[in-house]
Amino acid sequence: MLKRTIYDEEHEIFRNSVRKWAEEEVFPHAETWREEGCVSREVWKKAGEQGFLCMYADEKYGGLGLDDFRYDMILAEEINPREPGFFIALHNRIVAPYIHKLGTDEQRDRFMPGIVSGDCVLAIAMTEPGTGSDLGGVRTRAVEMDDHWVLNGSKTYISNGFLAGLVVVAARTGDGHEIGLFLVEDGMEGFSRGRNLKKMGLASQDTAELFFDDVKIPKANVLGDPRKGFKSMMMNLAEERIMGALGFTARAERAFDVTMEYIMDRRAFGRPIGTFQNSRFKMASMRTELDAAWALTDHCVREHLKGELSAEMAAQAKLFTSEVEGRVVDECVQLHGGAGYMEEYEISRLYGDARISRIYAGTSEIMREIIGRGLGLDERSRN
Ligand SMILES: Cc1cc2nc3c(=O)[nH]c(=O)nc-3n(C[C@H](O)[C@H](O)[C@H](O)COP(=O)(O)OP(=O)(O)OC[C@H]3O[C@@H](n4cnc5c(N)ncnc54)[C@H](O)[C@@H]3O)c2cc1C
Repeated sequence: MLKRTIYDEEHEIFRNSVRKWAEEEVFPHAETWREEGCVSREVWKKAGEQGFLCMYADEKYGGLGLDDFRYDMILAEEINPREPGFFIALHNRIVAPYIHKLGTDEQRDRFMPGIVSGDCVLAIAMTEPGTGSDLGGVRTRAVEMDDHWVLNGSKTYISNGFLAGLVVVAARTGDGHEIGLFLVEDGMEGFSRGRNLKKMGLASQDTAELFFDDVKIPKANVLGDPRKGFKSMMMNLAEERIMGALGFTARAERAFDVTMEYIMDRRAFGRPIGTFQNSRFKMASMRTELDAAWALTDHCVREHLKGELSAEMAAQAKLFTSEVEGRVVDECVQLHGGAGYMEEYEISRLYGDARISRIYAGTSEIMREIIGRGLGLDERSRN
């Protein structure tokens, strides 16, 4: 088994505190949250009290001023496999950085304290009923008036969509890739939420439809240049993809562990099923794939820590780890036999949860497009 060397002693101390906290405050509620289709607001606040939300934020906002990506990796590794619907990484590493890096001082002063305390849960709304992979096709539109913008349109599949107090919304402000990012606050007139969508997995994640009907957005809620939001979205995607890769690998590792336990316990033909050559070979192949997934992910994290992670490498990590997760959970269900199909066995949930990994944050096909383009194999190289 691969010995990971990405973490120092302080990280491991932090890991122990996260593990202990999650055992007390997260995992005991997981089943209730799955039934309710949403994690509680309290768990967000408790995470805030622990200092687990946006550790990189300035101390004046309640943060720790600790900008080390590895602490967020540990949160993902420890929490995600057993409560994958608690999207703490989306809050910390996918949405908050827009406000932290792109926001004005006034926007940071206004929003960061609530984001760090867990009072204000974050979401990002890019996908629409008519467009997902092709973000340039966004049809939600923002029109500039004297002292505000008017937002109209709808979004779908938005994670944290029900609990979110603040949503970063991508809307068309001009032709082509002229897209702006707008801070839409809970309670703004004309902003409403549709269904909490029922899904194949991630049952405790509140994935929602959002509607904007003549929402008046004050100019103070425009994030960055209202015509250059597309570029900002692209810049944040590499971090989003390695954060995803970590969660996928951690969940696949969990599937491997629960299966290992199961096959040593379950007997057939007078022996543990884990001792059949087929089981041994399957586990050996999965161990190898998992170690390769960790190695690739950790390589990307090292590049990221140096500020040198390329879009192509991040895409490779997202592609490979999500496909490994898919293969691993499938083999693990098979090794469980009929039990693997039963909801009461964890592997059944892990199987359902895994299916989305190859779709969101850019599908596997889009990842191959990015990697292929990096090889110089795009439409423009046809002649
Ligand atoms: C549970 C969940 C949570 C989500 N959370 C969020 C969120 O918080 N915020 C948000 O904005 N979005 C979110 N999404 C949306 C997600 O990012 C999109 O579903 C995803 O990007 C794919 O877009 P699509 O569904 O429109 O599929 P489409 O773009 O319609 O793709 C359909 C198929 O066509 C393929 N395809 C498309 N273009 C190409 C191409 N150029 N070459 C080859 N194949 C192609 C795709 O790979 C896919 O197989 C979430 C989705 C889900 C299911």
